[in-house]
Amino acid sequence: MAVNNIPSVHLNNDAAIPQLGFGTFQIPPAETKAAVTSALNAGIRHIDTAQMYGNEKEVGEAIRDSGIDRSDIFVTSKLNNDVHDPAVVADALARTTERLGLGPIDLFLIHWPLPEVGDFVETWRALEAEYRAGNVRTIGVSNFNADHLERLLADTDVVPAVNQIEVHPYFQQDELREFNERHEIATEAWAPLAQGAVLDDPVLAEIAEEVNRSVAQVTLRWHIQRGDVIFPKSSTPERAAENSEIFDFDLSQPQVERIDALDKNHRFGPDPATFNFVPE
Ligand code: NDP
Repeated sequence: MAVNNIPSVHLNNDAAIPQLGFGTFQIPPAETKAAVTSALNAGIRHIDTAQMYGNEKEVGEAIRDSGIDRSDIFVTSKLNNDVHDPAVVADALARTTERLGLGPIDLFLIHWPLPEVGDFVETWRALEAEYRAGNVRTIGVSNFNADHLERLLADTDVVPAVNQIEVHPYFQQDELREFNERHEIATEAWAPLAQGAVLDDPVLAEIAEEVNRSVAQVTLRWHIQRGDVIFPKSSTPERAAENSEIFDFDLSQPQVERIDALDKNHRFGPDPATFNFVPE
């Protein structure tokens, strides 16, 4: 059911994901239950977490205690960089499922390709087996470049349902987004506000004034009109509510084009081609 008029995006396995969710990166475990509860109260029904964030347990508690039907909430988590080994993928997923306590989760991603570490193709095959066994509803990847995806598409059976990548007005990634689209892989835009870096932008401020909205709302609306799935993070309940109120206005084509022109090809996060970090 659409809450707050939030539309869903249909994934290549027919699952539906709410186009707007709530991100939980850098929310400490002790603050996570309150933050996720605020997001749910604001009408958000899609939560993005990861093994790396250390807050899956608290995300699960907030969802279980919300009284909202499990089937109305979409939950994503991600395989950590230290478990890129087909022998331990099933166990890693089982631990995530247990920590969340919600039954099979809706979407599980390989968090980073780590091209120099293990073989992400073998890791993906292990995830395919978990998907076929019904231990997870949908599988996808994160931070995969086109050459990483090409290897998966050539050597494995299940096409990832999503590719979660850094995208914001300063790093628009249109080439990779188009690659995803050609292969029926939905693009999820992480750090949709560039972790706050776009909020002082004068062009965005001008447009915000024109439509009588905040800069954050204008930026999030731009992502929505491009068709990407987003999940801004905020530990501030008022901002979480503000971020959900983006479905009752439109940016005009000229306004969209002014935002398109802000692209600086500037990445804030690590480069997936060279990022090979594995925690101790
Ligand atoms: P975001 O682009 O969502 O920005 C979050 C920052 O913006 C916080 O500092 C927050 O402040 C601030 N903010 C949020 N809303 C507003 C608002 N309305 N007005 C003013 N400031 C605001 O960055 P994230 O890195 O958190 O990205 C979103 C999600 O993407 C993550 O939480 C995570 O789920 C996912 N992600 C995935 C990655 C991957 O490798 N797959 C990597 C990074 C992120 P405050 O909290 O203080 O309100």
